[in-house]
Amino acid sequence: MNITVVGSTNIDLVYLVPHIVAAGETLHSTKHELFFGGKGANQAVTAGQLGAMVHFIGNVGADDFGEQIKQNLQDKGVNIAAVQNVGITGQAIIQLADSGENSIILFPGANFLVTPEQIEQHAERIVSSEVLLLQLEIPMSAVETAANIASKNGVPIILNPAPAQQISDSLLSKISILTPNETELAILTGMKTETEEELFQACSSLLQKGVGAVVVTLGAKGAYYMNHFEHGYVQANKVVAKDTTGAGDAFNGALAVGLCQRSSIKDSILYASKLSAYVVTQMGAQPAIPSSFRVKS
Ligand code: ADP
Repeated sequence: MNITVVGSTNIDLVYLVPHIVAAGETLHSTKHELFFGGKGANQAVTAGQLGAMVHFIGNVGADDFGEQIKQNLQDKGVNIAAVQNVGITGQAIIQLADSGENSIILFPGANFLVTPEQIEQHAERIVSSEVLLLQLEIPMSAVETAANIASKNGVPIILNPAPAQQISDSLLSKISILTPNETELAILTGMKTETEEELFQACSSLLQKGVGAVVVTLGAKGAYYMNHFEHGYVQANKVVAKDTTGAGDAFNGALAVGLCQRSSIKDSILYASKLSAYVVTQMGAQPAIPSSFRVKS
């Protein structure tokens, strides 16, 4: 199982506060926690912990956080030979109020400095992968370059279109599996995505643009999928959720592992659902994944 992830890394700085700070106010935080994040890194770590050989292409800052992120990736089984230190590490500064409300400042930093040239330098890595896993937290030009390399060489591409934004028809036509959540699907297609009929129509419109399969994640409701042969729901495993941060990332990392195993799309979704249902019972976006979820390469 050989997966390349091209994407983002972040450090999440969480501050517990009595309320979200108001304009002009200075507020004492009662507790501070630091988590590793970024959709790219979260998905790479998931696949690595599930037993895949994962290579990560992307940036961290030329700073202490950058070194910590690299060490964390390595500790979780991700190869960092193609990770570059440049600029300032991407940061999410998160205020978490006693009420449960949060507010987030996202500073993309080094992630926005990923260039098409940098991706080209590591083209060989992409070409020798069984799956390329992409998200949209780095410049679109870099995402498109990675997708072009993979598609020219017959490497299947999973694109998690998050955060939501418009995607060119040319990029869509190269994607093997597109994995939006409901909101992202609505933004991508300009269509409603609440009922089964609406999901069917929205997914059909993407298949018409050349996407191989669409897997729509629906939180506690599970997932809806469609390819040219079948469509339908896969129920979520019933759990008591503690922290749903990173559920989608765990799902995508596991889906990539399922695809490497040549599992059917439905079996891959079942595997990804089982893993992400476990992840929402744990705190943080990169919880340690027990070895019982690992698959043999
Ligand atoms: P995102 O974080 O990208 O919005 P979702 O919230 O749709 O992604 O979650 C991704 C997957 O994680 C879902 O398809 C489902 O399988 C699983 N999941 C999310 N929330 C829960 C939950 N409360 N209970 C069980 N599984 C969940």
